[in-house]
Amino acid sequence: MSEPVLSIENLAVTFPTEEGELAAVDGVSFSVMRNEVLGLVGESGCGKSATALSILSLVPKPGRVSQGRVIFEGADLLALAEPRLREIRGRRISMIFQDPMTALSPLLSVGAQMAECLTLHEKISQKDALAKSREWLARMGIPEAGRVLSGFPFELSGGQQQRVMIAMALMTGPSLVIADEPTTALDATVSAQIFELLSKMRGESTSVLLITHDLGVVWELCDRVAVMYAGKIVEEAPVSALFERPLHPYTEGLLKSVPVLTEERELYSIEGQVPSPLDYPPGCRFNDRCPLAFDRCAAEEPALRQIADGRKAACHLADKRM
Ligand code: SF4
Repeated sequence: MSEPVLSIENLAVTFPTEEGELAAVDGVSFSVMRNEVLGLVGESGCGKSATALSILSLVPKPGRVSQGRVIFEGADLLALAEPRLREIRGRRISMIFQDPMTALSPLLSVGAQMAECLTLHEKISQKDALAKSREWLARMGIPEAGRVLSGFPFELSGGQQQRVMIAMALMTGPSLVIADEPTTALDATVSAQIFELLSKMRGESTSVLLITHDLGVVWELCDRVAVMYAGKIVEEAPVSALFERPLHPYTEGLLKSVPVLTEERELYSIEGQVPSPLDYPPGCRFNDRCPLAFDRCAAEEPALRQIADGRKAACHLADKRM
């Protein structure tokens, strides 16, 4: 296997609340390999977005990274001063957010913002930057790229704004793209175009960390997948192996919840609720929802451990399910 482009080690992200410290991410470790697409999946509130934001020190205050390291190209990003981090953001690591308006300025034209993104990170003239921006808008399937460049973000549809932001994230040729539910605002056809482009980027030396709750997207696009539940990684595997034989009962529940058009069956849903990050149950955090739970599960928290080549799971029964 190729070497990692990003390694997250024992990461914890907390938010102070009136009821105490909320542990959104709790001891998470994983790597993204060069040229791979890694999917980070789980239900809303499982900690996947907080994990993504912590990579570039973008966790909104008063939240903070309370523990861990984020190793990228040999340096711990969490230990870097802000000016050095700014050089890496956008140039070496790009981020695609769910909501494009958090990334686009309402005060500047689309062309000014796209060109600035290029002139800031590359030795390139304003004229060439605008020409490259126009090319990238066309690659994103935006017709009338010239009109879009001279307009302002508020004049575009949500889907167009999202495609502008994705173009800005990809056009500097970063080593790593972090995409947090990147196509939420787009229709199915445009989403498919964007995913095809993200997939192609892998061949251009870009790795992708894709945050999603959509297992269909994971199947189409990802090489490997890490499943998060209640602030922790509970399973990690190559995509085909995970879909064929999930080792963690939570992963199995997620897969059973995916509707299949050709099958006539009731839609499955995992019973119970995701536990509050202020009040995780003792032992395995999935034990009050798990159909396979037994005595040991409430008494002892299972560690994420290697079960087979390339496969890890945090379940006392994982070896037996292999
Ligand atoms: Fe279920 Fe126990 Fe495995 Fe947790 S450790 S997933 S409760 S069987």
